[in-house]
Amino acid sequence: MKTFIYDLTMERLREWVKEQGEPVFRAGQIFDWLYVKRVGAFEEMTNLPKSLRQKLEESFQFVILKEITRQVSSDGTVKLLLGLHDDHAIETVIMRHNYGNSVCVTTQVGCRIGCTFCASTLGGLKRNLTAGEIVAQVLEAQRLLDKEQERVSSIVVMGTGEPFENYDALMDFLRITIHEKGLHIGQRHITVSTSGIVPSIYRFADEQTQINLAISIHAPNDELRSKLMPVNRRYPFAEVLKALQYYYQTTGRRITFEYALIGGVNDRPEHAQELAEVLNGLDILCHVNLIPVNYVPERNYVRTSRDDIFAFLNVLQHNHINATIRREQGGDIAAACGQLRAKHMESTAR
Ligand code: SF4
Repeated sequence: MKTFIYDLTMERLREWVKEQGEPVFRAGQIFDWLYVKRVGAFEEMTNLPKSLRQKLEESFQFVILKEITRQVSSDGTVKLLLGLHDDHAIETVIMRHNYGNSVCVTTQVGCRIGCTFCASTLGGLKRNLTAGEIVAQVLEAQRLLDKEQERVSSIVVMGTGEPFENYDALMDFLRITIHEKGLHIGQRHITVSTSGIVPSIYRFADEQTQINLAISIHAPNDELRSKLMPVNRRYPFAEVLKALQYYYQTTGRRITFEYALIGGVNDRPEHAQELAEVLNGLDILCHVNLIPVNYVPERNYVRTSRDDIFAFLNVLQHNHINATIRREQGGDIAAACGQLRAKHMESTAR
């Protein structure tokens, strides 16, 4: 199978262009066609010599994402189920904010992390996406936004999959995304979320980017976290916190702690108190994002009541922890991560 053209960072494309005996500036022209003019065929790259267009054709292919389902929420959130060349399907979400449009991208087909509140992990991990398949999701979102003369202004790597288990593709995706001749999204407008893959947190810290890091913490201690997130047995709570401290010391960047509130499981005031003590003990700049989980039929998890959500928030704030409740988006569509794909898998299996 030919490599996807969107897999290539500017660096790799420059090398390839040189190997073809062409001047390096051609790489910039190709990026321009791919990410600014956003053409879908090499023959449309009319300022390139015909011979180079032919070589591109012979060496690379475009990622074709086939729209299987599109759901549009009353708040403007768009959830796409997109088909890949090998018949797998992935989810990509466009969210509307008053500060712009963000796209939530998927990095793996399925996920092996096994968080108990997540539909994406139910069928396990099928495969990693390539960098180009992640890039193509942003382009797909941009194509939809083009119709409204809007643009993708931020990216969250929080869709299906653990991005740090697909590290090299993730980094290439980020390089293409931030490149001034690529998608040109500001680094501070991109957030990568991890379940706590410790070695990759260190690696990511050493990359010294300005990209935001979010950690799915979901519990204030080892015991509860292991119940909710089996990955905690591989990378225990204390190790994760140590890695985050290193990240903060190395980059000086604020870290977001994602905390999914599950009724009666991790949403009691004593959990909030314990979490506040843990975070205050870290001496890092952080922010807690509280996310009320949707009903998870497979686990019988229920939603935390509105009063309990605010009680949890109050305890954190009382302890001087910067915290907010995530604005819910797409509540009237199957918005929770993996639900659309899970339904699709069910129907295709029948
Ligand atoms: S929440 Fe993220 S890391 Fe956890 S199982 Fe779901 S997709 Fe994987």
